[in-house]
Amino acid sequence: MPVGAGGPRLLLRRLREIMAEQTSAQMRLDKLVTVIATNMVAEVCSIYLRRAGKALELFATEGLNRTAVHTTRMKEGEGLVGLVAETAEPVNLSDAPADPHFSYRPETGEDPYKSFLGVPIVRGGQVFGVLTVQNRAAVLYAEEEVEALQTVAMVLAEVVAQGAFFKVAELDEPELRVDRPRTFTGEGLSEGVGVGRVVLHEPRVKVERMIADNPQEELARLEEAIGHLRVSVDKMLDSSELDLTGEGREVIEAYRLFAHDQGWRARMRDAIRTGLTAEAAVERVQDEMRVRVQRLDDPVLRERLHDLDDLARRLLRHLTGESGIQELPLNAIVLARAIGPAELLDYGRERLAGLVLEDAASTSHVAIVARSMGLPLVGSVEGISDSARAGDQIVLDGEMGEVHLRPQMEIVQAFEAKRTLREQTQARFAALRDLPAVTRDGVHIQLMMNAGLALDMPHLAESGADGIGLFRTELQFMIGETMPRLQDQVQFYRGILDAAGDKPVVFRTLDLGGDKVLPYARWEREENPALGWRAIRIALDRPALLRYQVRALLMAAAGRTLRILLPMVSNVDEFNRARALIDRETERFRLLNQERPRQILVGAMLEVPSLAFMLPQLMRSADFVSIGSNDLHAFVFAVDRTNPRVSRRYDTLNPAFLTLMRLVVNSSAEAHGELSLCGEMAGRPLDAMALLGIGLRTLSMHPANIGPIKLMIRSMDLSEVSPFVHKLCGRTDHSLRTRLTAFAAERGIALK
Ligand code: PEP
Ligand code: MG
Repeated sequence: MPVGAGGPRLLLRRLREIMAEQTSAQMRLDKLVTVIATNMVAEVCSIYLRRAGKALELFATEGLNRTAVHTTRMKEGEGLVGLVAETAEPVNLSDAPADPHFSYRPETGEDPYKSFLGVPIVRGGQVFGVLTVQNRAAVLYAEEEVEALQTVAMVLAEVVAQGAFFKVAELDEPELRVDRPRTFTGEGLSEGVGVGRVVLHEPRVKVERMIADNPQEELARLEEAIGHLRVSVDKMLDSSELDLTGEGREVIEAYRLFAHDQGWRARMRDAIRTGLTAEAAVERVQDEMRVRVQRLDDPVLRERLHDLDDLARRLLRHLTGESGIQELPLNAIVLARAIGPAELLDYGRERLAGLVLEDAASTSHVAIVARSMGLPLVGSVEGISDSARAGDQIVLDGEMGEVHLRPQMEIVQAFEAKRTLREQTQARFAALRDLPAVTRDGVHIQLMMNAGLALDMPHLAESGADGIGLFRTELQFMIGETMPRLQDQVQFYRGILDAAGDKPVVFRTLDLGGDKVLPYARWEREENPALGWRAIRIALDRPALLRYQVRALLMAAAGRTLRILLPMVSNVDEFNRARALIDRETERFRLLNQERPRQILVGAMLEVPSLAFMLPQLMRSADFVSIGSNDLHAFVFAVDRTNPRVSRRYDTLNPAFLTLMRLVVNSSAEAHGELSLCGEMAGRPLDAMALLGIGLRTLSMHPANIGPIKLMIRSMDLSEVSPFVHKLCGRTDHSLRTRLTAFAAERGIALK
């Protein structure tokens, strides 16, 4: 089968004319299949589009029985059409009926046709439908024909998605409508309710012109853009500002190699030769790549895809003349596959109303920053960026993990009411700020807050916290592009101590590894990063890093009390070795006659279960211990805390976990040690009630939780709660949550 006279370019021109016609959607589709069939000398041309529930329905055909239109439906993966949709790859067969995937549909009358070519209609990594051609003769379609049909399918996908081709309502097609309301459920990562408008963090650069008038001109434009791209990437590599060495440089070098990749360039040139403009060719090649990589599910390739996406966007911006800098609307809700903490901070807090992310794995540090900013965040929201358009209305609940895109009026009103209620509740908590956290039977509880960035510091006074129980120093390292210099660190820590005034601050040394990686240091990939080379393990193997940080802390705390907390300690020996490093650094200060802190207290985080059995020994050399319930919970129940499938499978309010807490409380009391808890558990009223019942007296949490926790404390009677919780430890329930909630309700304990 030859490509028709005039080739694909003539075909594209005809498509453009059909798109411009003022007829019904169905008539346009009918015309389209006829034109494609004629141009490609095919006896059959059909369009299958995706319906709700993923079935592919025959929407138009030339050559098959017309009565089958809107009747024939293929399920996902069914038949050759289903195979094309499932794999998102072309299927080219000389004898289709002989293929095991072939599914015979008598109503279509396709018996006489042997050869089959089907290509996916793809946009933004999503398959919308399938375009097919068939012929009686048993021959394989040539490569140019496959290319040509893919180009047609791409143009079709774009116009279908933009709704410009047919009025979707006419076809009553919910799956294709890009403007219908949609609800997504993800993981609530930062509390709060957001109502606003979508801002796409990596907006698709809008490609207006898809069909080329002059391919030679388009080839020249592509070459010019690639040349420009290469120069800008080379400049980036040579920039002295970046100050990249070692592995950081390798990352940029790899990026540069992509920019110079000949295969990439050749694929884009080929796409232009089928009749596309340079920008449409860039998009098509990138779309194909994305679909392929997404199906492979390989994290390394996905990382590469991010690089290539970035490069493709730069090319597109150059070709379309778009600057890429966006003006934020008021109440902007940023939507992204993934976003770095620095990029989030770049947006500023003022105009932001929320954040929605597709990728859960890369969210953890961005989630911490979002919480610091008081910005509602929902993560693990699969597929939302393909459905959303900039400017769409959107509402989200960062606690429940709900997102509504283009919601109905009633939903917007409900969310606005929820937001107002939340603000009122916050105001109620603000009234509690200066009241003590004391139980009804007179037991004082110390409430501290967790922090990690300078922008957390105003919360200390606003929340009425007694101090900072956990300062995650790694955040400052994670948001920068390069390792902070000693003087920068000193200044930063000094600023934190100044802002805290008389209140204590516990600085945790760098807790790196696991899901916390520095953008400028390349980590070796580990099979199980959570159980890998992290935190104190890195510090002991690379002592210079710890000593450098300790030096900065000693300088910043000159004349004051310095509290240092070591993360992920697994045994007493590790603690002692790290403490010896700190002592050596302090000794250096003495020898140099440099002013030292008035007092240095060094504590250990209890996150690894083994340490729970060594507390009497640990307390001899540690000044305090803080339970990191997030990691401890993960290690006790053997769950990956970053994997949403299992992270919530086991409750913290489980008899085993509370029994372990009891062991820790009792053995540190016997050793007269100072004990606190600084994981997320401390900030959940019901969990905190149980922890106090078990015997904890110091809790450190996100500042927004101080109000609700204080309210709970002021309404509880420890002499009632304690025996009840101790009794529950003997049960075998999966979770004690229901029993504890019922108990709280009965005794009038406020849980919000
Ligand atoms: C913890 O593990 O409970 C903890 C407080 O540390 P992070 O959440 O920073 O790992
Ligand atoms: Mg931890």
